[in-house]
Amino acid sequence: MDPQRERIQADLRGLLSGEVHCGDAFVQMYATDGSIYEVPPLGVVRPRGLQDVRASVRYTAENMIPLHGRGAGTGLAGESLGPGLVVDFSHSMRRILELDNEEGTVTVQPGVVLGQLNRYLASFGKQFGPDPATGGVTTIGGVLSVDSSGSNWLKYGSARDQIVRLQLVLADGETIEAGKHRVTDDPAIDPDPRRRELVRRLAELIEREESIISANRPKSLVNRCGYYLWDVLQDGVLDLAKLVVGSEGTLALITQATLKTVPVPKHRGLVLMFFDRLEAAVQAAMEAQELGVTACDLMDRRILTLARDVDPRYAQSIPRSAEAMLMVEQQSEEAGEVLERLQEVAMRWQRRRRLAFDFHLAISPDEFDLFRRLARRVSPTLHRVQGRERPVPFVEDFAVPPATMADVVPRLQRALQTYQATASIFAHAGHGQFHLRPFMDVGDPQHQRRMQDLANDLYAEVWAVGGTISGEHGCGLSRTWAVRKQYGPLYDVFREVKRIFDPGNLLNPGKVVADVPQPLIKNLRPVAADDELAAPKSGHYLADPASNASPSGSSNGSPSKPLELQLIWQGSFASTAENCNGCGRCRTQSPEMRMCPIFRSAPAEEASPRAKANLMRAVIGGQMQAAQLSSDELKSIADLCVNCHQCRSECPAGVDVPKLMMEAKAQYVASNGVDSTGWVITRLESVAAWLSRFSTVSNWGLRQPWVRWLLEKTVGIAQGRKLPQVAASSFLRKAERLQLTRPTRRTGNKVLYFVDLYANWFDTQLAEAFVQILQHNNVSVYVHPAQRASGMAKIALGDAERARSVAAKNVAALADAVRQGYTIVTTEPSAALCLTHEYLHLLDDDDARLVAANTVEACSYLWRLHEVGRLELDLKPQNYTVGYHLPCHLRALNVGSPGEQLLGLVPGLTVRRIERGCSGMAGTYGLRRENYRSSLRAGWGLISAMRDPAIEVGTTECSSCKMQMEQGGTKPTVHPLKILALAYGLMPEVEKLMRARVPELVVT
Ligand SMILES: Cc1cc2nc3c(=O)[nH]c(=O)nc-3n(C[C@H](O)[C@H](O)[C@H](O)COP(=O)(O)OP(=O)(O)OC[C@H]3O[C@@H](n4cnc5c(N)ncnc54)[C@H](O)[C@@H]3O)c2cc1C
Ligand code: SF4
Ligand code: SF4
Repeated sequence: MDPQRERIQADLRGLLSGEVHCGDAFVQMYATDGSIYEVPPLGVVRPRGLQDVRASVRYTAENMIPLHGRGAGTGLAGESLGPGLVVDFSHSMRRILELDNEEGTVTVQPGVVLGQLNRYLASFGKQFGPDPATGGVTTIGGVLSVDSSGSNWLKYGSARDQIVRLQLVLADGETIEAGKHRVTDDPAIDPDPRRRELVRRLAELIEREESIISANRPKSLVNRCGYYLWDVLQDGVLDLAKLVVGSEGTLALITQATLKTVPVPKHRGLVLMFFDRLEAAVQAAMEAQELGVTACDLMDRRILTLARDVDPRYAQSIPRSAEAMLMVEQQSEEAGEVLERLQEVAMRWQRRRRLAFDFHLAISPDEFDLFRRLARRVSPTLHRVQGRERPVPFVEDFAVPPATMADVVPRLQRALQTYQATASIFAHAGHGQFHLRPFMDVGDPQHQRRMQDLANDLYAEVWAVGGTISGEHGCGLSRTWAVRKQYGPLYDVFREVKRIFDPGNLLNPGKVVADVPQPLIKNLRPVAADDELAAPKSGHYLADPASNASPSGSSNGSPSKPLELQLIWQGSFASTAENCNGCGRCRTQSPEMRMCPIFRSAPAEEASPRAKANLMRAVIGGQMQAAQLSSDELKSIADLCVNCHQCRSECPAGVDVPKLMMEAKAQYVASNGVDSTGWVITRLESVAAWLSRFSTVSNWGLRQPWVRWLLEKTVGIAQGRKLPQVAASSFLRKAERLQLTRPTRRTGNKVLYFVDLYANWFDTQLAEAFVQILQHNNVSVYVHPAQRASGMAKIALGDAERARSVAAKNVAALADAVRQGYTIVTTEPSAALCLTHEYLHLLDDDDARLVAANTVEACSYLWRLHEVGRLELDLKPQNYTVGYHLPCHLRALNVGSPGEQLLGLVPGLTVRRIERGCSGMAGTYGLRRENYRSSLRAGWGLISAMRDPAIEVGTTECSSCKMQMEQGGTKPTVHPLKILALAYGLMPEVEKLMRARVPELVVT
């Protein structure tokens, strides 16, 4: 940390009760957002409340340090980036303060996530109207500061239309309440002198410049460019709150907001209108507003083609011949009315106007959700393209008057053609809002020039019809350069507004107005050069970024040591980190998604997958020394990844953050080794073998609180965690006795059972159940005697060398069996993930690939048998209600939920899906003393769902998840295969287990 940052950190820590971080890692994590820019700040403040914000503002004002408010950092224009001090409201100012049912308002702190607010309001039948697509992530402070809106703008408008009052901290640290205020000098009318003066000066300015203000108003329905000076001064009353909304943190910081709420619509429906020409769709959309629809979104052929590939249900409903589609939404209190009005739209555009050739109605809630999510589901496909050209947000937000769209769209297409730029068209066409992301290589200077030229040309077309360069994303770093061009003399009025609020230009300077606005292509996030991307292919060695042709170079001037990569990357190390576009989706709090369990339980930027990709990018780009990967600071951030793989599946850009973190941990372990708990955890197989020799004593000890206390003190295994009891003899030994350890000469289905740690040493009944089920279904079973536990704990902890050694032994044993026609099947989802995915990061050989291609999780294997009619169905009724939890590692295998499906075959059994996200156990993460509480917090949804009296027994495929499910109560959790074995009549003893009560300190 440089001395300036060190001093600021020390000063502010003395002044604030919230956190202050000026270290290298934090600077990097807050240097980017959802935009194409990177600007490292001096540091980060996480205020706990109003007083912290005021103290930060006063301190920065005294020291002439700029200050940048920040919510979730999902802004697409770089609005929250800057070289000063970032104030992160999303960390500790996340409270919903008051719901006023009479006034129909809700008062919140700025860090509240919009989606969480809406879930809270839903229990009162209410919601916040504007619906930005990032609702599961974005904060109210961000929504207000950008004046966000979404598809439903036609009904709810933007954030500005829903504001009642704001609590603001001004540039000098003073606090005011901002709502509607009479322009007055009379303290009896407005007792707050600071506000009186502010209101008076603003009103004078607006009155004086009235003609310039009204002459330069864009004709588009939406506008998020410049300050909002229209309609805010009426009859001597200034709506100060409205004026501040949309000002991107450049006028004041919002510390509290009172928002209007609206009733949740009872019924919603969609009609998808299909057109054989884009122009016809645009023509139709121009009529949307007069038809009174609540949303009308336009998608072009490229998006529709991708949608058909994403989901067969889209393929069924969207005709191949469609060149464009309009997705039209209606809402009403009456279900019949929704249908009637959508049919009216369809009739008009298809029959009367002959614009559309077909339509599809989506009225049921499931179908409505399916199609409403279409754009969100397709966007990952755009971002996961290979190669250096990516969809780039830099002209992604212009808006035009809807009546001009027919003129504008062909001109936009011509401009794109001129610059050989590919872009799909997505637009909230009902209100003339376009989201265009041309494919560009931001690292290529030629493309950079093209970006600037294209922006000039596109914006000229937009201005020619009275449109605006931003309809809902703001100016930030990517558009402020064009604000003067859009507004001419009005720009100077905006500058005067800024001076009235912030004479020292300290609040988020350079956004909306600036002395010298930064050019579009300055401060671009660095991209590694091609040779750097290819370099690690031959060895596991990354060339020194500082001596490479990286455009970023080394920010601190000293060349960093070359990084010896611990994992196999095949030239993809840099590109993996760079694939992260900063969209912030991985900060989601939405229950529809699983990522990221650790961020969800304690929302802090460093816990997010985005932060981790950022740090690795900084190491690759040379902004951070490679040696820092061996530091405790980076290790503590890497440890916030528990290798659950949920972000890898759900991130729109498919960034493999777990692999990046495995590399980071491996770098640390290579230099520092593992700690004592890690030592035990990475040697669990040997520990289990040893404990098993004295199983009676060991299992007695596990149940004794004093032994557990000792265990916690000596090896760090959490005292309160219920642990599995060790078997007296391993399953592998039993398999030998059962003569399963020799390959068969039989033909037909042949399975090599990969037993893994848990079924071998702790739950041999599970292994027996699986073998019996296979034999019952006429499948030959082979248990290779040389197999070892998969080593997932070693992988998760970054012990790459030991993990590689285990992987090599297993692959050597298993590959031969595959060549003899065996399919490798394992009852542990983590082991399946190891063999199919993780081993390929450790071993670069054909045998590892062979094993990966021929490994299947046990329930998936049986379900496949069922699908080809080869699974016996002589199952006896079981009268239980079981709660099924889908483990993260099974989800990461992308095989659906085969265990749940198999249980669905058992007559009489009621299977209820518990959809509460990750169990929080994350393999061995929840075993550690220091993780115990956060593990319980992350898995609390699942633990409490298990307490539902309707659920008699829990069930899941994963041994760690089982431990967590049994942690919070006395109901047993039984593997689906055991229930299947019971239903087949193969294992009557499972009946006892189904009725068992989970004891203290150990699991069943
Ligand atoms: C994939 C994607 C889709 C998007 N779709 C939409 C969309 O449909 N509609 C839409 O409107 N936007 C959209 N956006 C843009 C972005 O999500 C919104 O602008 C969002 O409201 C920003 O909120 P945030 O919490 O991330 O704020 P940030 O990005 O953190 O900050 C945004 C601005 O608010 C300021 N700010 C934040 N908190 C405060 C505060 N308390 N006081 C003062 N200033 C503050 C910051 O300084 C900055 O200027 C999208 C972004 C992405 C990546
Ligand atoms: S990791 Fe993925 S979801 Fe998270 S910010 Fe990066 S691209 Fe977005
Ligand atoms: S793998 Fe899981 S824990 Fe790690 S960053 Fe991704 S979602 Fe978070």
